Amino acid sequence: MIETNTGACLCGAVRFKTSGPLRGVVYCHCQQCRRQTGHFYAATNVAETALSVEGADKVSWYAASPYARRGFCSVCGSALFWKHNESEEISVMAGVFDRPNTLKGEVHIFVADKADYYTIDDGLPQYDRSTPSIVVAGD
Ligand SMILES: [Zn+2]
Ligand SMILES: [Zn+2]
Repeated sequence: MIETNTGACLCGAVRFKTSGPLRGVVYCHCQQCRRQTGHFYAATNVAETALSVEGADKVSWYAASPYARRGFCSVCGSALFWKHNESEEISVMAGVFDRPNTLKGEVHIFVADKADYYTIDDGLPQYDRSTPSIVVAGD
Protein backbone atom coordinates (compact mmCIF):
# COMPACT_ATOMS: atom_id res chain seq x y z
CA MET A 1 0.00 0.00 0.00
CA ILE A 2 1.25 3.48 -0.83
CA GLU A 3 1.81 5.73 2.15
CA THR A 4 -0.53 8.71 2.18
CA ASN A 5 -0.51 11.72 4.45
CA THR A 6 -2.97 14.56 4.85
CA GLY A 7 -2.84 18.07 6.20
CA ALA A 8 -4.55 21.44 6.20
CA CYS A 9 -4.12 25.12 6.85
CA LEU A 10 -5.27 26.67 10.11
CA CYS A 11 -8.75 27.61 8.88
CA GLY A 12 -9.32 24.45 6.83
CA ALA A 13 -9.98 26.23 3.53
CA VAL A 14 -6.99 24.37 2.08
CA ARG A 15 -6.61 20.64 2.61
CA PHE A 16 -4.10 18.40 0.90
CA LYS A 17 -3.02 14.82 0.52
CA THR A 18 0.38 13.42 -0.40
CA SER A 19 1.08 9.95 -1.69
CA GLY A 20 4.38 8.18 -1.29
CA PRO A 21 7.04 8.51 1.38
CA LEU A 22 7.86 11.96 2.73
CA ARG A 23 11.41 13.30 2.56
CA GLY A 24 13.18 14.03 5.83
CA VAL A 25 12.39 17.48 7.15
CA VAL A 26 14.75 20.27 6.08
CA TYR A 27 14.99 23.20 8.46
CA CYS A 28 15.80 26.42 6.62
CA HIS A 29 17.02 29.35 8.68
CA CYS A 30 17.40 31.87 5.82
CA GLN A 31 16.01 35.37 6.13
CA GLN A 32 13.17 34.77 3.66
CA CYS A 33 11.95 31.73 5.57
CA ARG A 34 12.30 33.51 8.90
CA ARG A 35 10.34 36.50 7.73
CA GLN A 36 7.58 34.45 6.14
CA THR A 37 6.98 32.20 9.11
CA GLY A 38 8.14 34.29 12.06
CA HIS A 39 10.62 31.54 12.97
CA PHE A 40 12.30 29.09 10.61
CA TYR A 41 11.07 26.78 7.89
CA ALA A 42 10.54 23.08 8.47
CA ALA A 43 9.57 21.35 5.26
CA THR A 44 9.36 17.95 3.67
CA ASN A 45 8.83 17.53 -0.04
CA VAL A 46 7.09 15.32 -2.56
CA ALA A 47 6.80 15.12 -6.32
CA GLU A 48 4.29 17.73 -7.44
CA THR A 49 2.28 14.95 -9.05
CA ALA A 50 2.05 13.23 -5.63
CA LEU A 51 0.31 16.20 -4.03
CA SER A 52 -3.40 16.86 -4.39
CA VAL A 53 -4.86 20.06 -3.01
CA GLU A 54 -8.47 20.79 -2.11
CA GLY A 55 -9.21 24.52 -2.07
CA ALA A 56 -6.29 25.32 -4.35
CA ASP A 57 -8.06 28.55 -5.32
CA LYS A 58 -7.48 29.72 -1.73
CA VAL A 59 -3.72 29.29 -2.06
CA SER A 60 -1.91 32.57 -2.78
CA TRP A 61 1.60 32.47 -4.19
CA TYR A 62 4.35 34.93 -3.39
CA ALA A 63 7.60 34.91 -5.33
CA ALA A 64 10.22 36.04 -2.83
CA SER A 65 12.88 35.56 -5.51
CA PRO A 66 12.92 34.96 -9.27
CA TYR A 67 13.58 31.26 -8.58
CA ALA A 68 10.81 30.09 -6.33
CA ARG A 69 7.41 30.89 -4.92
CA ARG A 70 5.74 30.38 -1.58
CA GLY A 71 2.15 29.20 -1.25
CA PHE A 72 0.04 30.26 1.71
CA CYS A 73 -3.65 30.23 2.61
CA SER A 74 -5.22 33.50 1.50
CA VAL A 75 -7.82 33.23 4.28
CA CYS A 76 -5.77 32.44 7.39
CA GLY A 77 -2.19 33.03 6.22
CA SER A 78 -0.79 29.56 7.00
CA ALA A 79 2.49 28.89 5.18
CA LEU A 80 1.92 25.68 3.21
CA PHE A 81 4.12 25.18 0.15
CA TRP A 82 7.42 26.17 -1.43
CA LYS A 83 7.97 25.56 -5.12
CA HIS A 84 11.16 26.05 -7.10
CA ASN A 85 10.31 27.07 -10.66
CA GLU A 86 12.51 24.41 -12.19
CA SER A 87 11.85 21.52 -9.86
CA GLU A 88 9.27 18.81 -10.23
CA GLU A 89 9.03 18.57 -6.49
CA ILE A 90 7.16 20.77 -4.09
CA SER A 91 8.00 21.41 -0.46
CA VAL A 92 5.23 21.10 2.09
CA MET A 93 5.55 22.61 5.55
CA ALA A 94 6.03 19.88 8.12
CA GLY A 95 3.81 21.48 10.75
CA VAL A 96 0.66 21.52 8.62
CA PHE A 97 0.41 17.73 8.36
CA ASP A 98 -2.19 15.88 10.36
CA ARG A 99 -0.89 13.49 12.97
CA PRO A 100 0.24 10.80 13.10
CA ASN A 101 2.70 10.98 10.22
CA THR A 102 6.12 9.66 9.31
CA LEU A 103 8.05 12.94 9.35
CA LYS A 104 11.59 13.00 10.73
CA GLY A 105 14.12 15.83 10.92
CA GLU A 106 17.06 15.55 8.52
CA VAL A 107 19.21 18.65 8.15
CA HIS A 108 19.55 22.36 8.91
CA ILE A 109 20.42 24.74 6.05
CA PHE A 110 21.31 28.44 5.86
CA VAL A 111 22.47 28.23 9.45
CA ALA A 112 24.72 31.24 8.76
CA ASP A 113 21.54 33.33 8.48
CA LYS A 114 19.76 32.02 11.55
CA ALA A 115 18.32 34.35 14.16
CA ASP A 116 20.20 34.80 17.43
CA TYR A 117 17.46 33.92 19.89
CA TYR A 118 17.63 30.11 19.59
CA THR A 119 20.23 27.39 19.44
CA ILE A 120 20.23 24.26 17.28
CA ASP A 121 21.01 21.29 19.49
CA ASP A 122 19.25 18.32 17.90
CA GLY A 123 22.48 16.76 16.60
CA LEU A 124 21.39 16.91 12.93
CA PRO A 125 23.87 18.09 10.27
CA GLN A 126 24.12 21.85 9.82
CA TYR A 127 25.16 23.75 6.71
CA ASP A 128 25.99 27.46 6.42
CA ARG A 129 24.05 27.55 3.14
CA SER A 130 22.60 24.56 1.34
CA THR A 131 23.86 21.15 0.31
CA PRO A 132 23.96 19.86 -3.26
CA SER A 133 21.11 17.45 -2.54
CA ILE A 134 18.64 20.18 -1.62
CA VAL A 135 17.16 22.56 -4.20
CA VAL A 136 17.05 26.14 -2.94
CA ALA A 137 16.44 29.51 -4.51
CA GLY A 138 19.72 30.80 -5.93
CA ASP A 139 20.79 34.38 -5.33
ZN1 LIG B 1 -6.57 28.74 5.83
ZN1 LIG C 1 14.91 29.46 3.57
